[in-house]
Amino acid sequence: MELRNFIANEWVAATATRPVIDPATGTVLATVAESSADDVATAVRAAREAFDSGPWRTTTAQARGRILFEMARVVRQHAAALAELETRNCGKPIVESEFDVQDAATCLEYYGGLATKIHGETFSVPDNAINLTLKEPIGVVGLIVPWNYPLLLAMWKLGPALSAGCTVVLKPAEQTPLTILEFARLVREHVPELPPGVLNVVSGDGPVAGRALVESMEVDKIAFTGGTDTGREVLHGVARSNLKKVSLELGGKSPNIFFADCDLDAATDGALFGVFINQGEVCSAGSRVLVQREIAAEFMARMQEKTARIRLGNPLDRATKMGPVVSQEHMERVLAAIARGRQEARLVAGGGRAESLPQGCFVEPTIFESDNAASIAREEIFGPVVTVIPFGDEDDAIRIANDTPYGLAAAVWSRDIFRCLRVVKAVRAGIVWVNTMQPCYVEAPWGGYKQSGHGREMSLHGQEEFLETKQVHINLSETPLGWY
Ligand code: NAD
Repeated sequence: MELRNFIANEWVAATATRPVIDPATGTVLATVAESSADDVATAVRAAREAFDSGPWRTTTAQARGRILFEMARVVRQHAAALAELETRNCGKPIVESEFDVQDAATCLEYYGGLATKIHGETFSVPDNAINLTLKEPIGVVGLIVPWNYPLLLAMWKLGPALSAGCTVVLKPAEQTPLTILEFARLVREHVPELPPGVLNVVSGDGPVAGRALVESMEVDKIAFTGGTDTGREVLHGVARSNLKKVSLELGGKSPNIFFADCDLDAATDGALFGVFINQGEVCSAGSRVLVQREIAAEFMARMQEKTARIRLGNPLDRATKMGPVVSQEHMERVLAAIARGRQEARLVAGGGRAESLPQGCFVEPTIFESDNAASIAREEIFGPVVTVIPFGDEDDAIRIANDTPYGLAAAVWSRDIFRCLRVVKAVRAGIVWVNTMQPCYVEAPWGGYKQSGHGREMSLHGQEEFLETKQVHINLSETPLGWY
């Protein structure tokens, strides 16, 4: 199967192609476009035209909303096929892909509804004037997404962008373009109301195609999700070009904090779910488990016992709890981090490649115990690796939790609600869960403090990121100023 770029509702060949690999088996799933800077420029021109002079400008908010509802309907109608494709492409267990696809549709519905709720404000200026704001779409937006939730994270950006009235060029991660291209195919076939050029998809390498989008003088904003170092590159590219607007959803090393009075059974489930879901390839992974010293030994024993029961294997099997990591290259990165961990920390579980599954990129769920200074406690590994860090009292927990350059997420577990709320206030992170970790809703804002990002996705805040605010000042007085 050879898939091309989706530009102005047509399939357009790029300069070169690249294979897309199934990480569970190593087989080639498809060949996709490997876009050059020129290929990206073609897509940007289509988006520019659709925004500047195409019908999208005059499409009403109600019509935009209906188009998003139609997209959501199509996703739900083809949910089973999309989920299977997602699992084959990125390796996540099929049950998780099914969940993600439904979430993707929910996101489109939410922003479909919001299209008609965009509104400005009026301001109390002196009597001889009226002052108000208009909300307007930012323009052409480049959407750059990673490989861990390929379809879902694309919809987190596409939903608010289209709802706001922007046109987009979407670049999937090089490893996982398939569900996004399939989404474009379904939209082309089933949502004919979408004008050409509003949604464009270009696949390709980050430093080539992604960079071309970031540095384009014709793009008004970049909405980026990916690693913190890449986020830095994006900011440099934006500074080198037209100072376009930018929002960044970046990495994390999130603390999952357990006090001695927590329910040990629920807590150890939460510690494992917090980090091992999606093979640990989660930006908000609770990859630092902070455990109060009194319960540390018992906590660790229970984590070890439950980890031994985690079923690794064919991600299309409904009983599988952990699939392969996304690629050979990523597996090698994760294994290198584990090898460093073995030098500096106590290995408690796992610690290598799953030898029983040699055909795919399977890494054992791995637990280390160390202090917060070890590199495995500081660097984002983005794989099934967790570091357990014992702590003394509440102040100690807060100090360790905040001792990181990241600030995406945190969780706190205790039966003492006063303590939980003190920790919620003290931890510098964009989301803090209490007695749970990872639930995520489109109605609520998502984003990071510190080096975990700029701006927020989802909710009303997420839509604001795709809007400009224009102040309008109307003079009501007909008398001359009398200044000259
Ligand atoms: P990555 O930074 O390598 O790639 C992300 C995207 O950026 C890909 O599409 C890639 O092609 C593109 N890219 C790479 N170099 C680029 C460049 N120079 N210019 C423009 N685009 C470029 O990240 P990844 O490995 O795909 O994803 C993992 C990272 O994403 C982790 O750090 C994770 O924490 C982060 N992430 C964050 C969130 C969040 O909501 N905060 C969500 C998911 C993933």
